[in-house]
Amino acid sequence: MTGIRPLVAGNWKMNGLGSSLSELESLRARLETAPVPETNIMVCPPATLLSRAREAIKDSTIMLGAQDCNPLASGAHTGDISAEMLADAGATSVIVGHSERRHDHHESDALVHAKALAAYRAGMMAIICIGETEAQYREGKTLDVLRGQLEGSVPEGARAANTVVAYEPVWAIGTGLTPTPPEVAQVHGLIRSVLGQMLGDSEAGAMRLLYGGSVKPSNAANLLFVPDVNGALVGGASLKAEDFYEILSVYAGTQS
Ligand code: PEP
Repeated sequence: MTGIRPLVAGNWKMNGLGSSLSELESLRARLETAPVPETNIMVCPPATLLSRAREAIKDSTIMLGAQDCNPLASGAHTGDISAEMLADAGATSVIVGHSERRHDHHESDALVHAKALAAYRAGMMAIICIGETEAQYREGKTLDVLRGQLEGSVPEGARAANTVVAYEPVWAIGTGLTPTPPEVAQVHGLIRSVLGQMLGDSEAGAMRLLYGGSVKPSNAANLLFVPDVNGALVGGASLKAEDFYEILSVYAGTQS
């Protein structure tokens, strides 16, 4: 093992009502019966469920994350939620720059950078997402695109303790398609080396790099043991406790 504690984070996206908290309770019960030691486990429900999720996972090993934040701390921004508000509701991390936000809300690297800074300001960890589109992948532009996104989105103050980078090829999200393990290894190696140039080798070497995009119980073992992969960001398969547990349990028994 690398000595980096893996993180498996579930992104519920715009899914989940109060009744979905039963999945969190099932996950919690599963982890109490069969813990997966030395692995960080996080669930990122929609903002409407954060406070109730905090209660549902209280005193468990499950961490709570949010899915987005406004870069400002407060103000006249109807409908938006600040990092401080998310922290107040119980989140200790926030996803920023998810491709769905980059696409649906035209979020730029500069905005993602500002959102990561907001997460630090509120004392939270930023999970910064990057990833190429299908066209960019086909044109062989993946590495250049990712370098640009890293340089534009990851703040200078990023440290292994406050930042996680998630590589999520846009064409793999929700499609059932995934890159091959050698492709993931190449991309994650590049991400670590670009982060090394930006932040220094020591921070980059300790930073968790997650793979995301159609991770499922059937492919988790193939994708999560690729060099430089330190966990997963899981969308659809995190909605069911049983599937999510199966994914994260690939780490059971692997830590020394
Ligand atoms: C995601 O949206 O972060 C994601 C990885 O989705 P899925 O696992 O459903 O592809």
